[in-house]
Amino acid sequence: MLEHQMLEHHPYGIAVPPESFFRRVGSRLDLGGTIPFNPNSVYVITAKALIDGTGAKPLEKAVVVTQGHTITAVGRQGQTPVPEGSHVRRLDFPDGYLLPGLIDSHTHLMFGVPGSSYEQVISEDSDEVMLLRAAKNALTHLQAGVTTLRENGARNQITFNLREGAHRGYVTAPRLLLCGRPVTISGGHFYWCNQEADGVEGVRHAVRELVRDGADHIKIMASGGGTAITDLRRPSYTVEELRTIVEEAHNMGKRTTAHCLATGSIINAVEAGVDMIEHAAFVENDGTYRFHPEVAERIAKAGTYVSPTVQTGYRGLEALLAKEEQSGLSPDEAERLEWSKGKCDSQLEFLGRLWREWQIPIVSGTDAIAAFGDYCIGLELMAEAGMSNMDVIRASTSVNAEALDVGHMTGTVERGKDADLIVVDSDPLQDIKALRKMTMVMRFGERVV
Ligand SMILES: [Zn+2]
Repeated sequence: MLEHQMLEHHPYGIAVPPESFFRRVGSRLDLGGTIPFNPNSVYVITAKALIDGTGAKPLEKAVVVTQGHTITAVGRQGQTPVPEGSHVRRLDFPDGYLLPGLIDSHTHLMFGVPGSSYEQVISEDSDEVMLLRAAKNALTHLQAGVTTLRENGARNQITFNLREGAHRGYVTAPRLLLCGRPVTISGGHFYWCNQEADGVEGVRHAVRELVRDGADHIKIMASGGGTAITDLRRPSYTVEELRTIVEEAHNMGKRTTAHCLATGSIINAVEAGVDMIEHAAFVENDGTYRFHPEVAERIAKAGTYVSPTVQTGYRGLEALLAKEEQSGLSPDEAERLEWSKGKCDSQLEFLGRLWREWQIPIVSGTDAIAAFGDYCIGLELMAEAGMSNMDVIRASTSVNAEALDVGHMTGTVERGKDADLIVVDSDPLQDIKALRKMTMVMRFGERVV
């Protein structure tokens, strides 16, 4: 069909393309993980209670109806009309708690090789091997209840190819929101993903290239990080460069998020109007961690989301503590343990302060690099940092969906939204660890667990 034939006539005589046209020309967020799929399949799901993701108190004896990809009814059992007939599949969870599918704001799907450094994986594995691993990681995450994930950086076309495979039904994956390659300075953090860009013109070009390739958002490396030759204590981009990235991304309808370990990089990113800060680690020039209330105030005033990725380093810390107990540590390991304790403690303390003292909107992100499917530990740590279980659930559902610009599709259990749902066996408001084990996972109307 020719483009002009797709135009519909507006009541005032202006020709406007239908919404579906924009969805086709823009990113392909609307498409699910596994298509083909019978759009007429109907589920009636009952549960002991529904926690809908909005923060409202649980609805007891709940029923949710899905048809095709969409939630068509939400209410109380006995008071909500439900469809009947041989095409209707019933799922009854009399002791189960029904919630929206979970959202991870930060992954790196091409990794997931525990015990290896970035440099090892990057030099040893081809894009093709990493693509296969990304498919496996995406499925593992989905089975842990993550029905939407935001991918924050992979090499070349790996994640774009993964999404193409998911759209064709070759792999089962969560909804994939992709940056493709992160924008980084020459020799900057993740430079081997191959999107180095410097100067105002350079970064503008990079944003356009990424959107051309299919990026849903722009990930910026605003400080160094774990990449061997970079310095995580110092900002990388200037405010002017960051501002150009944000302007160009927004101009193209895309949001931005910035990796910020150094305090200076947080200041620059907020000044430039970046939509989300990743990590917010507050690392000083001397490598120590120190919270800055005046920087927190700026984040709060700007309304910037923070994805504290509070679980990074936590499993490593656990392993070192276990080894210390069993067989003792080498001097090298003992030093790593000290450093690791300081990092994990400050992550929790800073998250608690950002939340309590400044009410900054927090979203849950794993920064999954070593292990996929290990999502709930981040929620447990957020609760430990002082967030209520309800606020942790909102941070991993509705608030996260709004932050990622998909709030109209997912993040709450409401009529008209995509049928992204999970069921767990016990009440996560009593104990957030209930989200460790999934009894049911439904993505886009298709049951996957
Ligand atoms: Zn990351």
